[in-house]
Amino acid sequence: MIQTNSPKVLRDSFNRAARKLRISVTDKCNMKCIYCMPNGNIKWIDSKEILNFKEIIRIVSIFTHLGITKIRLTGGEPLLRPSLENLIRGLIKIQNIETISMTTNGFLLEEKINQLKSAGLNSLNISLDTFREERFRTLNGISNLNKVLRGIQKASELGLKIKINTVIIRNWNDDEIINFVKFAKDTGLIVRFIEFMPLDGSGIWNHNLVVTKKEIIKIIESSFGNVISLDENNSCPSDPATVYNFDDRKGKIGFIPSITEPFCSNCDRIRLTSDGRFLTCLFEKEGYDLKKMIRNAKATDQEIINYIVNCYKMKPEGIVQLIRINQLRPTLNLMHTIGG
Ligand code: SAM
Ligand code: SF4
Repeated sequence: MIQTNSPKVLRDSFNRAARKLRISVTDKCNMKCIYCMPNGNIKWIDSKEILNFKEIIRIVSIFTHLGITKIRLTGGEPLLRPSLENLIRGLIKIQNIETISMTTNGFLLEEKINQLKSAGLNSLNISLDTFREERFRTLNGISNLNKVLRGIQKASELGLKIKINTVIIRNWNDDEIINFVKFAKDTGLIVRFIEFMPLDGSGIWNHNLVVTKKEIIKIIESSFGNVISLDENNSCPSDPATVYNFDDRKGKIGFIPSITEPFCSNCDRIRLTSDGRFLTCLFEKEGYDLKKMIRNAKATDQEIINYIVNCYKMKPEGIVQLIRINQLRPTLNLMHTIGG
């Protein structure tokens, strides 16, 4: 049991409190999305360096004493981590953990979703960038789009809360925006359009490839009429996605406009990489080595808490600062190692 002679909440120098922890459970992936993975042979992190479940659970327990209540599992592709359901079972037992969500590419959902739901998984963000098989191969580097669609269907039938994440890139898939809105209307699932960020491993990012929230709304309104902002969003200012629906109330869409409307001032996220680094921001490269503290230094929980508190105070302002000083350029960080 941790004696909490420490703050009840993590607060940085911009007065932002951390509430949500994203855990990358592996850097490996079964896809090779053009906006994420490096080209050529990828050097995966050595398996000895990856945190085991016991280590993850210890770190999460420590974070709950600093105000963390929500967990998101991510990757790489989290469904590649063997026995993930055992991790979920362990996490759900930690006092003060309210929800466990996962971000996945959906490829292995069909076969794994039953056991994950039974273990206690609450909700899913599923990435889907196209409805065309050939384009799926080009954009995501794998065949069998239908397998992902079947996974979405099955998770939906099981009653999980699902959001679809769609990265729109100019001249790659911006001609499918309307189809994604139709999908949102037909299925009742929220589709969130994400602006392409310079977190690509292959260095293709440039400003021209970013299809902005404004542009997407214009395209959508020309087919479906005015979009209507939903009040529910105001109750959660830290949610990066602004949610909208339509006059006929059918279908909800969201936007994650990280480039044109960065939400850094409301950021309440922190990250744990699969090799045990604590990242206070998506754009932080090295982070702070918690694995070393628990493996080599055998630090006490209180020592780890003190370290985390001090690191978090140094959380950078975020992408908003990079934009201000005109420092957006490709490959600012590797998304598949941090988890998005
Ligand atoms: N493999 C899982 C997946 O694809 O959902 C989880 C990890 S992935 C890094 C998390 C999210 O980041 C996905 O929704 C993906 O589309 C998004 N993403 C990856 N690279 C991105 C980029 N350069 N800009 C914007 N979003 C990106
Ligand atoms: Fe893999 Fe997700 Fe990156 Fe695509 S976005 S390569 S699925 S980690």
